[in-house]
Amino acid sequence: MRWENLADGPVRGVADAALFGADAVTTRTFDTPEFRGITFHEIRARSIVNRVPGASRMPFEWTVNPYRGCSHACVYCFARKTHSYLDLDTGLGFDSQIVVKVNAPDLLRRRLASPRWHGEHIAMGTNVDCYQRAEGRYGLMPGIIAALRDHANPFSILTKGTLILRDLELLKQAAAVTDVGISVSVGFVDQELWRTVEPGTPAPERRLDAVRTLTEHGIGCGVLMAPVIPFLGDRPEQLRATVRAIAASGATSVTPLVLHLRPGAREWFMAWLERHHPYLVRRYERLYAEGAYAPKWYQRRITRQVHELAEEFGIGPTRAGAARRVRVPEQPAPPPTTPAGTQLTLL
Ligand code: SF4
Repeated sequence: MRWENLADGPVRGVADAALFGADAVTTRTFDTPEFRGITFHEIRARSIVNRVPGASRMPFEWTVNPYRGCSHACVYCFARKTHSYLDLDTGLGFDSQIVVKVNAPDLLRRRLASPRWHGEHIAMGTNVDCYQRAEGRYGLMPGIIAALRDHANPFSILTKGTLILRDLELLKQAAAVTDVGISVSVGFVDQELWRTVEPGTPAPERRLDAVRTLTEHGIGCGVLMAPVIPFLGDRPEQLRATVRAIAASGATSVTPLVLHLRPGAREWFMAWLERHHPYLVRRYERLYAEGAYAPKWYQRRITRQVHELAEEFGIGPTRAGAARRVRVPEQPAPPPTTPAGTQLTLL
């Protein structure tokens, strides 16, 4: 594991020398059904607030990511690539080898108190999900939100994790003193598709329940309808069912985003496709022949369909200038990537 490439700077030491060849990481497993098969690597990071390279293309400049790897295990997740920077496997390893920055709340509080920090917006959930299962055990987000609240520092969270509701009171307290933007990612409501493509996530309807609860408590919540998966989740009736469910949840906005397949995610997704839908492999190769993104005509078609449905069901797309929300560019450009691994994922 090449810890020196972590965005947060070098990490010295690991307990599992055979795996990491260093000595400042404590490696744990928990023999409970929820965490069976998952290995946690607890580290003490040197810093926690990361600057997004090329931030001019993004609606935010600063991110906080307390975890690396994600047990939500979405087959299309393009944060997979970041595990390779640690010399970890980007397939099953990404799903089951989770790096936990146990000192994240303390580091953040210190950074926010620094005279060099000027209260810029901080985005979370931009690399991996900060409300993945590990958060249930490590509980880093309450300390992080409390620090942001205490400094009245604006922030946003993008998640698929219903665990966010655990922190509802803290979010309300933060929203009373600063801008808080929450987005939940729901690309489809098809049960079969969910079980195979996002096997570690809460069901889409549970996520929409979370949207409803947040909204009912005065925390406006948008839905990133991502990813729309070509040939598997893009039939008109599927789009319709999804937008209808999103609208019924009380979401403040819906923003569609078509699947993209960057290196790291592409290999894992295509292997999955070969196993589950081999008849689609050639069609995918053609659709993604030009690179990581589906052709513009396809993206525009999906966007138009979703916007029409959104209008029909009375829910608006995310508006330009809604800086509180986690947004994606209308004309997708490759997200910025660095060897340090700061990326934006389709949570
Ligand atoms: S897409 Fe998001 S929720 Fe899914 S595995 Fe990646 S980081 Fe986790």
